[in-house]
Amino acid sequence: MENNNISVRRIAVLGAGESGTGAAILAKDKGFDVFVSDFGKIPDKYKEMLNREGIEWEEDKHTFERILAADEIIKSPGIADSTPIMQKILSKKIPVISEIEFAGRFTDAKMICITGSNGKTTTTLLTYHILKRAGLDVGLAGNVGNSLALQVARKPHEYYVIELSSFQLDNMYDFKANIAVIMNITPDHLDRYDYKMENYINAKFRILQNMTPTDAFIYWKDDPVVSSQLKKIATEVAMFPFSANDEESCAAYVNAENELIINTPSSKLSMPRADLALNGIHNLYNSMAAGLSACLLNIRKDDIRAALSDFAGVEHRLEPAGTVNGVEWINDSKATNVNSCWYALDSMTKPTVLILGGKDKGNDYNEILPLVKKKVKAIVAMGKDNSKIVEFFKDLNIQICDTHSLSEAVDACRELSRPGDVVLLSPCCASFDLFSSYEDRGRQFKNAVAGISE
Ligand code: ADP
Repeated sequence: MENNNISVRRIAVLGAGESGTGAAILAKDKGFDVFVSDFGKIPDKYKEMLNREGIEWEEDKHTFERILAADEIIKSPGIADSTPIMQKILSKKIPVISEIEFAGRFTDAKMICITGSNGKTTTTLLTYHILKRAGLDVGLAGNVGNSLALQVARKPHEYYVIELSSFQLDNMYDFKANIAVIMNITPDHLDRYDYKMENYINAKFRILQNMTPTDAFIYWKDDPVVSSQLKKIATEVAMFPFSANDEESCAAYVNAENELIINTPSSKLSMPRADLALNGIHNLYNSMAAGLSACLLNIRKDDIRAALSDFAGVEHRLEPAGTVNGVEWINDSKATNVNSCWYALDSMTKPTVLILGGKDKGNDYNEILPLVKKKVKAIVAMGKDNSKIVEFFKDLNIQICDTHSLSEAVDACRELSRPGDVVLLSPCCASFDLFSSYEDRGRQFKNAVAGISE
């Protein structure tokens, strides 16, 4: 598909990360005059790529005149509309699109797009794993994987599995998904949506725009936000809801024999739930969504079953970190909000020592209180300031340890755990008080566990 908007000649790309650099290269290939501007430092890797392609760039600043001379802006999802440069661009009514929107203009590949508040990365990687393992020519793009635009420019595929955040969806207009997935919608990122949940929901539902009756929409039927929004909007897309055990109206569910059933017009798949590689009810949903996409793409049932059973999992999401002296250690460092910790606790089957804490984002721990009462034998708070956690849980009849570093926390967990227990790092909080990122926190945790197992 060629660019049909011939009036666009000059493109400015804001933000030179994975998506911006890829978009700039695709734009250059398609004959646009491209300028890349980043208000921060551009990683060396991307500078080298831009230099190799002869694309002009600047860092540590935005040269307004140069950017405002563009006919169209491709914006990195991380840049908020409230920044001075975006305010100026919006006041001049220069069209702003995302890298995914731009790349979509130059490919006819089949797009499987996944969004939601939680479970995006797991479902995206699992879907990609099924398609790849079945031999399809598939690329991974969006929040995980490589730039869609760069793949379209230099290594095109027939299928793409794309993780979409609400920020990417904000600047998508003509892009069309062939299969769209909404895992769930719970409050998140409201600071970027004028603190209005409605705006955030509308952003997520942009994933459905332009879809037709031959396209498919996969969603979690029990999500109250998704169900109520579906009543308000008009869409012709074919619906494939999933739910833990709603046989009546769902395309995927678990039957009385504890088998996962997936029903699509061209396929009926069943497999024992116990064969799924990923544990926990949330991962059942993720497996259902990925399995539904695969069935809709007519992948062989044996291939789907095999891929759902041998998926290696995703780092920092309920990731086994090792068993030492009969105690299982689990790294769920990506659980940076209370809701994801709820799912982690829900899937625990042994007495649990829970590591909580970090940078609190206004957490309400009431959501996990019943599960803590039921499954947690001790809490190890790990953060600069643990007072809120200690205060909240102090009346439970369990031990609470106040620690301020990973090594202190691990020592406390060793003392508190007995063979047959689990130590679960599922902190409900961002990591920035003691670590550089949730990945850093998860890796340090795994290294510490490896250290005690020697
Ligand atoms: P995202 O990319 O949307 O942040 P991830 O797949 O990285 O989602 O998972 C993040 C955390 O959310 C995991 O640690 C897990 O505890 C929780 N989670 C995963 N899948 C789901 C789901 N379907 N529903 C609710 N929580 C989930």
